[in-house]
Amino acid sequence: ANIHDILAKQELEFNDLVALLAATGDDRKALFEAAARTKAEHVGNVVYLRGLIEFSNVCRKNCLYCGIRLDNKEVERYTLSDEQIIAAARFALENRYGSIVIQGGEITSPAFTLRIENLLNEIKALSDGKLGITLSLGEQSEDTYQRWFDAGAHRYLLRIESSTKSLYNRIHPNDENHVYEDRLEALRLLKKVGFQVGTGVMIGLPHQTLEDLARDLMFFKEIDIDMCGMGPYIEHHQTPLYAERESLMPLQDRFDLALKMVATLRVYMKDINIAAATALQAIDKIGREKAIKVGANIIMPNITPGVYRDSYKLYENKPCTDESAEECTGCLDARITLTGDEIGYDAWGDSQHFGKKQ
Ligand code: SAM
Ligand code: SF4
Repeated sequence: ANIHDILAKQELEFNDLVALLAATGDDRKALFEAAARTKAEHVGNVVYLRGLIEFSNVCRKNCLYCGIRLDNKEVERYTLSDEQIIAAARFALENRYGSIVIQGGEITSPAFTLRIENLLNEIKALSDGKLGITLSLGEQSEDTYQRWFDAGAHRYLLRIESSTKSLYNRIHPNDENHVYEDRLEALRLLKKVGFQVGTGVMIGLPHQTLEDLARDLMFFKEIDIDMCGMGPYIEHHQTPLYAERESLMPLQDRFDLALKMVATLRVYMKDINIAAATALQAIDKIGREKAIKVGANIIMPNITPGVYRDSYKLYENKPCTDESAEECTGCLDARITLTGDEIGYDAWGDSQHFGKKQ
């Protein structure tokens, strides 16, 4: 089918999604233009900021692609102190970021649940409820999700990584800590508790096909997500998946495919929040801006205290690990203005998709 016919359809089907992801030349351009139009019409040309706080690189899991996996003995482990987290939250507030994201390795213990709960209460109090709070702390029990929700977190990010079960299994160890069905169940529970739920995938994984990615997009729609964060897979030499680097497509191609995933998702799920992933910036200095041009409306500037940035290396070439948050913020406004969008300061910038369901 002709790309313009596909883009004019009300409901995209599997074959349409594959065709959009495969688009090159003028077709690719048409996809990007359609995504930009859809974004302007359905969510507006406003980019919302989520200050990313990398809480801890301690993790109980062993995902085969991740630089901070449990069995990587070469990373120095850290966990931020309460004071450091509060200081980062205050920084976000003072710099008029509407929200923060507290992200980290997966830690599951009653003490951890309580610590996050207390922190949430404290952040809520210090910001007088002004800061939106997103969590991304892996798979937890329903009770833990509920307690964190009750303490004031209202969004949760948990990537499915790949919705193709066989591929999910290829990139995770075959043990009771890494079960595809558990990941699905976690997403269901988060929704049940009342969170705005975000998921996503890595793009350009070894053995991943365009069909896998099209199925990922259909999966997002099926479980009716409110937010999406997806970015290129970037290999890390201290991980088992590094052994499969020969089968990867070049980084630039992974980057381009990630842009097409963002654009296709924007056309497919018009009113959700889509993040311009940090991993895009690791490949292309203005990678996030390019994603904003083709449909993304969220960026997550890193506001983790500088000294720890180097230790939260999920992949190689992670940008800005040697800069402090202050230095990054100065250029944010200019960067976004260059895309033609504006920054939505002091606003939560919740998913409009979620809003409509309430
Ligand atoms: N531990 C939590 C979890 O896994 O959901 C949250 C933090 S985890 C570091 C956040 C995301 O980093 C993962 O969902 C994964 O998609 C991404 N990630 C990990 N290793 C990566 C790599 N080598 N390249 C690109 N993204 C990676
Ligand atoms: Fe841990 Fe998340 Fe990395 Fe998996 S992706 S090893 S859960 S930090």
